[in-house]
Order: sequence, then C-alpha cells, then structure tokens
Amino acid sequence: MKRFFCQCGQEVFFNNLYCNQCARDLVYDPSARTLWSGELRKGYQFYAHSNSGKNQYVMKICKNRFKEAACNWVVSSFDEDGSSVCLSCRTTQTEPDLKLRKNKKRVRLLEMAKRRMMAALLDLKLISPMGGDSIKGLKFDFLEDKRSNPKSEIEHVLSGHYQGLITINVAEADEGFLHVMKEQMGEKYRTLLGHFRHEIGHYFWCRLIDIPGRHDAFRQVFGDERADYGEALKKYYDMGLQNRWMSRFITPYAGSHPHEDWAETWAHYLHMVDTLETAVSYGLSVYEPKKNDFDDWFAEWGKVAQVMTALNRSLGLMDPYPFSISEVVKGKLRFIDELVESSGKLPDNFKKTAPTPTAPKPASQ
Ligand SMILES: [Zn+2]
Ligand SMILES: [Zn+2]
Ligand SMILES: [Zn+2]
Repeated sequence: MKRFFCQCGQEVFFNNLYCNQCARDLVYDPSARTLWSGELRKGYQFYAHSNSGKNQYVMKICKNRFKEAACNWVVSSFDEDGSSVCLSCRTTQTEPDLKLRKNKKRVRLLEMAKRRMMAALLDLKLISPMGGDSIKGLKFDFLEDKRSNPKSEIEHVLSGHYQGLITINVAEADEGFLHVMKEQMGEKYRTLLGHFRHEIGHYFWCRLIDIPGRHDAFRQVFGDERADYGEALKKYYDMGLQNRWMSRFITPYAGSHPHEDWAETWAHYLHMVDTLETAVSYGLSVYEPKKNDFDDWFAEWGKVAQVMTALNRSLGLMDPYPFSISEVVKGKLRFIDELVESSGKLPDNFKKTAPTPTAPKPASQ
C-alpha cells in the first residue's frame, strides 16, 4: 500500500481515524483512493482542503465510524442509493452478538482486514468505488460457533464462499485461535487478511472465469474444477500433503482441488501486490511498474521477500514469508496477473504499485 500523510506532515496509516500529531480527522476516500485529513462536522459531514487550500471538499462519512467497525471510509459521492454506510461496510450482512465484548474487538479487526482487501481491489480496478454491479451479490457473514461462544446455535463455522456470500469464523480474529489452527493444520502462514484474500478469490473466480470461453484457459493452468469438490477435500484432510506439492502449488492446501489452488494463488497475488507497493513506498525497492512487465515485477518481489526475511530473523521472529515459488506456480501467478490487467474497467492505466513519494507532503496523499 502507498504511504499517506496528514496536512501537518505526519505520516498516517490506512485505518487511522485521526492524526496523532495534530488531531485532525482522517477519512479514506474510495473514489480518490487516498486518505484525506480535515474536520468532522455535524450530520456526518467531513471537510477537507485541497493542497493549495483554495478548494474545500465536503464528503459524507460512513456511519460505522462510530460503531464497532471504527470505519474511516467516506460514502462515495456517486452512491445512488443514498446509503449511509460505505462500500466496504455495505457488504457485511451478519455480525456476531455485539453484546459480547470480545465480539466488538473481533468485528473491528475483521472490518479493518476487509477494508484493506477492498482497497486493493479498488486499486486493481476489480471493483468500482460506486459498488453497483462490481460488487454484485458480495456479502459477508461474520459468525461464531460453540467453540468460542457456547450459546451459539452453530456447532462449527467453516470459513468459505458460496455464490457471493463469504462466511468467516469470527474466532479467526483472536490471536490464540489463529495460532492453534495454524498448528493443527500444519500451516506456515495464516492471517485474517489472508482469509479475506482467499475467499474473495472464489468470488472473482465466478466473476472472471465462470463465463463462456474462459474455462478452458483456466483448466490448462489450474486443472479441471469439475472434479468432485467434497471428495477432493475429504481426501486432502484424510491423507494430508501431496508428494512434491511444492513444485506445483503455492501451499499444500492449494493441492486439494483446482478451486482451492485458484483461491490460494489469488490470495498470494494480492499479498505480493500490496507488499511490493509498500516496499516501493518506503524506498525498500526501486521498482517502477510498466505495462506487461510480470517478469520484472516477479524478480523484484523475490528481492523484497528476502529483505523481509532477513529483517525478521534479526529480531528473532518467524520468517514472514515462508513460501517458495516454483516455475509452475509462477505460471499461475502470471495467468492471474494477465487476467487482472485485462479486467480493469476504469480508464486510467492499471499500475501494480504507486510511485514512491519523495518526501512527506503537507497535504493528504
Ligand atoms: Zn496531522
Ligand atoms: Zn464503512
Ligand atoms: Zn477456499
């Protein structure tokens, strides 16, 4: 993600509600894909000034700013249905019991991760700030099961996607649960953001692949998704890792079924896009994006991943990027990259990373 700065010059972050330095309020504007610093006024109005100070912009903030979601987004000015919540909040269909304190924190973390995932989709032009058809049918159910709340009527919530509805087990927002699941499943990487990026991959499979003329190209790269899904998952959970999975898949789970291979690879693509953009923004990489430069982009990613690993080892922390990408997996990432580039709907040219800001600017960036 690119860097953002308050009008006072202080660096501020994507999910911040206000600047710690000057106390100006901050909002994220999905239409401009930037953070603005300014002032909240009555009636959910937000006032921001242009860099020169000559122009004043008035925006409507998302009502969930004052709820558990602590959402800092504005409601798009193009929004036709007069919604009082933003593009991201509008997709939440079910929340857990908010009378429980732990669920308030979970919802905050879930919505934060969802907004980050959504911002990347906006950057890649996969969704429009207006929402509309670009998020057609997309809904999220945040559910808890008996393991985290004995009063819950659901025995076991499995995160997943079905016809646009994404279910996330809210316990995944608990550090402890996440860690236990990671151990139990023998995974090297498990994060809340990773869940969102994986599940939205299933949603985009329906949008970008499940249309006439696209299936064959997909099957050549990922295999035939018509293989029995239930059988495949059962086999995966019964028998565990496939032999030499690493030469063909990004994770062992990706080897369970072509649908899961797609979602795991898609999530990985979003990890790479966001992290490389962050590295460029902070001057850790000098990569400058060009059109159709997948090989350059991929090579730069390798260097950045190495730096991340070295930094973490210096602090005695686990490797942040426990992946190795084979030629086969690289081909799958290239397939996704080409598909994303050709699917961008908005007019300005798609770029995988924003240019590096040379110095903090006095206004919002
Ligand atoms: Zn400030
Ligand atoms: Zn919102
Ligand atoms: Zn999946």
